Amino acid sequence: MAHIHLILLSTLIFSVNAQFELFQMVQQWPPATCTNVLCARSPSPTRFTIHGLWPANYTKRYLVCRQRTKFSETIQGFAALEPLLTYHWPNLKRGKDKTFWRKEWNKHGPCSENVFNQVQYFQTALNIRTNPRYDLLAILNAAKLGPTGNTSRQYQVIKNAIQAATGKKPGLRCNVNKNTKQTQLHEIVLCFHKDGATLIDCPFADCPPRFAFYLSTSF
Ligand code: 5GP
Repeated sequence: MAHIHLILLSTLIFSVNAQFELFQMVQQWPPATCTNVLCARSPSPTRFTIHGLWPANYTKRYLVCRQRTKFSETIQGFAALEPLLTYHWPNLKRGKDKTFWRKEWNKHGPCSENVFNQVQYFQTALNIRTNPRYDLLAILNAAKLGPTGNTSRQYQVIKNAIQAATGKKPGLRCNVNKNTKQTQLHEIVLCFHKDGATLIDCPFADCPPRFAFYLSTSF
């Protein structure tokens, strides 16, 4: 009996440890977020902002973290990141930016804590967001695929433009615009090896073949 327990326990530990295989770096398009939730600022910023850095694996895009280290705003090194986090990882909803960072860390951060502590985790997200090679809006604008009034965009075309610029396949996430009832581009995901630096193909895709990419919330 004890033997079986030991096998079960080691299987459990092994499978939990084996979970984290890649990062999904999720950036949101604020006008698309803010058509559906009440946002603090109007108009919404028209730059991609960070939603989260989500540890995942190839078959499971959302992991439930075993470790539960809580967000700490006083941890050494964190204060130095705040100015850039405030700009690139704002809380679009009402409330403090820190509330959003706390929620994101508490839900996702501990899943990759064996590799990145809290400061390293937020630093990794900023490194990706500020790397000009991964400037999504610049990539799309250069390909004449930026946000517009009402032109519909094709999944393959947007995906190909980002893939051509970065070398790897992004994931696209859509939501439904409450005003127009159209499916719209909401978030773009870049996937990284668990080192947090090597771009890889994203194994997940969400948007339908065609969708809107609106310049503002007023469409
Ligand atoms: P997840 O919790 O899986 O990281 O992300 C989904 C949740 O994040 C949703 O509840 C969504 O409303 C929320 N969310 C997306 N953008 C923002 C934001 O800018 N601020 C806050 N507080 N929540 C957000």
